[in-house]
Amino acid sequence: MKRDSYKPLSGTSPLVYFLKLYIPMFIVVVGVAVTAAMLLQERHVREIQQSQKLHVLLEREVLEAEILAHVSDAVYLADLTALALANPAAKVSTEKILQGAYYFFSRSQGIYDQVRFLSPEGQELVRVNRNSRKPVLVPASKLQNKAERYYFTEGMKLKPGEVYISPFDLNVEHGKVERPLKPTLRFSSPVQDPRGGRAGLVVLNLLGARVLDRLRRMGQSTGSQNYLINREGWWLASPTPEMEWGFQLAERSGANMGVVFPQAWQDIASHTGGQFFTPNGLFTFQMVRVLNQAGELGSDLPHGKLDDLWWVVSRVPPETLVLPWRLPQIGLVLALLALLALLAWFVAVARSRRARAEKQMQDEQKRLEAVSNASQEAIAIVDSQDRVQFWNRAAESLFGYTRQEAMGRSLHEMVTSPEVRPKAMEGMALFAQAGQGPVLEGLRQLMAQRKDGSSFPAEIAVSAFRMDGHWFAGGNVRDISDRKQYERELKRLANTDGLTGVSNRRRFLELAEQEIVRAGRYGRPLSLLMLDLDHFKAVNDTHGHEVGDQVLKSFVQVCLSVLRQVDIFGRVGGEEFMAMLPETDQEGALGGAERLRAAVAGAAVKAGGVEVKYTVSIGAAVWREGMGLEELMNLSDQALYQAKEAGRDQVALAQEGTPPPGSGENS
Ligand code: GH3
Ligand code: MG
Ligand code: MG
Repeated sequence: MKRDSYKPLSGTSPLVYFLKLYIPMFIVVVGVAVTAAMLLQERHVREIQQSQKLHVLLEREVLEAEILAHVSDAVYLADLTALALANPAAKVSTEKILQGAYYFFSRSQGIYDQVRFLSPEGQELVRVNRNSRKPVLVPASKLQNKAERYYFTEGMKLKPGEVYISPFDLNVEHGKVERPLKPTLRFSSPVQDPRGGRAGLVVLNLLGARVLDRLRRMGQSTGSQNYLINREGWWLASPTPEMEWGFQLAERSGANMGVVFPQAWQDIASHTGGQFFTPNGLFTFQMVRVLNQAGELGSDLPHGKLDDLWWVVSRVPPETLVLPWRLPQIGLVLALLALLALLAWFVAVARSRRARAEKQMQDEQKRLEAVSNASQEAIAIVDSQDRVQFWNRAAESLFGYTRQEAMGRSLHEMVTSPEVRPKAMEGMALFAQAGQGPVLEGLRQLMAQRKDGSSFPAEIAVSAFRMDGHWFAGGNVRDISDRKQYERELKRLANTDGLTGVSNRRRFLELAEQEIVRAGRYGRPLSLLMLDLDHFKAVNDTHGHEVGDQVLKSFVQVCLSVLRQVDIFGRVGGEEFMAMLPETDQEGALGGAERLRAAVAGAAVKAGGVEVKYTVSIGAAVWREGMGLEELMNLSDQALYQAKEAGRDQVALAQEGTPPPGSGENS
């Protein structure tokens, strides 16, 4: 046998089983986890989209409402100015009234950097500055002409009740951007002249820092970055203030929507509102609609004309859109995967072992089959439930069951006769528990049964072995019919006389002894006859030995025909015989002996055309309580002697108490 057959068998490595088990598990667990994560991510993004829409819409509305309030302020001041101009007072100059009105207006509102009234020629007539919280009325000497400024020219084009809203920009003083930066928004509204035409222009410079601050702050609270952008995409408010006002500050000229978020800018510039994703994140925007809203409210109400386009924009950066790694959940999934791996490994090792064992068993089985099929003896293996697991060719021919028929069936139901089956099954039950049983010790002989119902003596040898925690029994069965026959023949030969076929001396003495024991036990009568052919030597001498033999045979036939079935008859010497007569007293013994003698005397043997006659002398003895076989035989022998002495061909009865005869006893 090659050593190769003990190497690990291919395909039974635990790793292969492990992978077969674990890969599907892994795919399912990871798949479920990823799907769940994706669903959560989707929901997360949807929530952000929703909240950003609301947030931007709200921001736009707040901004619009605020602008509208300033538009109202401008119109209010224009109306007030027109009223003062139309009704000059007697005591106080109109100029003084306007100065007071503008001063108190500035003080009460507190949000306008400058509150001015300009003449139709652009000359400042009243101007209240607001330096460090306190309103200050600017003296006439410091008033300037603003005819060249856009807010003047644009404002003067409007009708009373309308308000020009300038673009949001940084305040410029003497051609330079004022520092610290002062975001400013101008509202200018024409003042009605009672004679028709324009009496001048009210200009409000709004300090825009507060509005922009609120925008920036609101973004922080929603996790987004909030911007207010103008027509050209410049930032008026941005989460990074250094990037604001690029159109006025040369060093910030690159800080523009179109440069930093070109893709988003393209979309925003051509729409009034919407939401979209770019690689820079989620953008949500709404255009500020001062004009439209004011227009909708009605023509008699003040309304503004915005000289720019503004969009409120929020940006949620990509990193905020992606859900953060959730360590506990990932830990849970990893732990589950590890646990499954451990379980799968245990199962894989167990399966691998079993597969290996099965494969080895199959190999063993093949070898066993090869060997056992060559065997002349029937070989069978049963499990502890008596089910046949192995059945070789010799078993097929011995019992008549094919392998297919025998496999899995109860062995004892097949091969034992119904009488011994219960006991055999009991033995199997014991065997199943302990692997022990009487049948396992040495060789056993019993009667076995074939498929056709016939039975035969069998000799079996059984051994037990344990496999996978169960007991198995393997045995071989040999048909010993021939041997039994032979043994019977030997026994018969050992017990019978070869010439006449009746019991020989040894067998006769054995049986006679049993009869004496029986008679003694039950107190029954018993008699013994001793028979000796007369002058037999002469028969031999006259007719030859063969005729002598024939006479012996003839004599036996005659005796057997006279004797009863229960009588025991045997040849104890050359021409000497004995008959033991159970249940026979003296009278019966004498009667029987006489019948024998007479029958013999009447018989003859034919030899060479001649009839050979012969006679027999019989000594009878009756058994008495306590008498042994030897004593009884001596008695009958003495009686025989007497019969010979008395002239032969007669019966003599032993006389009890007669002393043993002399040396001439046997001749
Ligand atoms: P008696 O009447 O006194 O018994 O005379 P007998 O001749 O029968 O007595 P003896 O014992 O002298 O002779 C027995 C003879 O039987 C001797 C022997 O040759 C013969 N004999 C013994 N066995 C056999 C046998 O098996 N076949 C034959 N043909 N003769 C046998
Ligand atoms: Mg004799
Ligand atoms: Mg004789």
